[in-house]
Amino acid sequence: MKLPPVDYEAPKTVSEAVELLAENEDEANVLAGGQSLIPLLALRLARPAVLIDINGIAELSGVSAVDGWVAIGAMTREYVAEESETVADALPLLAAALPLIGHEAIRNRGTVGGSLAHADPAAELPAVARALDAEFVVRGQSGERVIPAAEWFVGFLTTSRRPDELLTEVRFPAARRGTGVSFQEVARRHGDFAVVGLAASLTLSGGAISDARLAFAGLSDVPVRAGDAEDLLVGERPSAELFDEAARRATDDIDPPADLHGSAEYRRKVAAALARRGLRAAADSAGERQ
Ligand SMILES: Cc1cc2nc3c(=O)[nH]c(=O)nc-3n(C[C@H](O)[C@H](O)[C@H](O)COP(=O)(O)OP(=O)(O)OC[C@H]3O[C@@H](n4cnc5c(N)ncnc54)[C@H](O)[C@@H]3O)c2cc1C
Repeated sequence: MKLPPVDYEAPKTVSEAVELLAENEDEANVLAGGQSLIPLLALRLARPAVLIDINGIAELSGVSAVDGWVAIGAMTREYVAEESETVADALPLLAAALPLIGHEAIRNRGTVGGSLAHADPAAELPAVARALDAEFVVRGQSGERVIPAAEWFVGFLTTSRRPDELLTEVRFPAARRGTGVSFQEVARRHGDFAVVGLAASLTLSGGAISDARLAFAGLSDVPVRAGDAEDLLVGERPSAELFDEAARRATDDIDPPADLHGSAEYRRKVAAALARRGLRAAADSAGERQ
């Protein structure tokens, strides 16, 4: 299907892009990798008057490590992050999730910032950002704001970014020594969005869990953090019984959606199974990274 008629702007700097966003506000959509936006335009589910193509803004791409954080420019392609040694070393959870996004052709164009700005609750990167307490840097005409992941995802395909703001960078805290991770998901076919996904990270100190992070994809209109299960895990030594109890706590109070891909009950069972599996795998890999 052809795209609807739309004006096209291709700024070369963040300042130009921000100016265009301020001029067009609700009438404009930012075009990053286009892997979600172009289908929405073709299906007439998005009808912007103006497309602001940010592919020519070089300053928006790159991965850098500073003071215990890794900053990823919004236009960094998913495959570039996947190939990054910095990401592999400092962000093993992100490294585990990236290859599960669609297929190579999609990751070749799709961007880290695009996925997080699109905020599909079944997508992998929002669950990773929520698990790791990432920070989102947005720029508007009045300056820069830094938004914590807990406040970024506000609803289905909706973030706390204002229409006149550009997402410029996402910062993730680097994994501490003794951290093991796992990204688990059940999808109908390889490359599909997850029916349920789980980002899991455990840090072990002296054999006990000193930090636990669990965030689900596909259970709500935003990624869901399992705070009760995390509280249970911290201070304990990894064991099958502990992980069974954590999986129960993580899924006791959830109210997953039902759709063509699975009932609410099916999603609840899958989520519990992924929690047990993810915690085991994270604990095993934490042991290897001591
Ligand atoms: C067949 C197929 C399968 C896929 N499978 C998966 C999957 O399994 N898991 C998954 O997570 N994703 C999947 N995707 C989506 C893919 O990851 C996209 O790359 C991603 O969702 C959007 O990134 P993008 O760079 O293409 O953004 P775009 O499509 O260009 O933009 C998406 C939205 O974000 C906004 N936006 C983008 N960048 C910015 C910015 N810097 N500031 C403000 N707003 C911005 C746009 O205006 C738009 O509303 C799939 C896509 C396809 C086509």
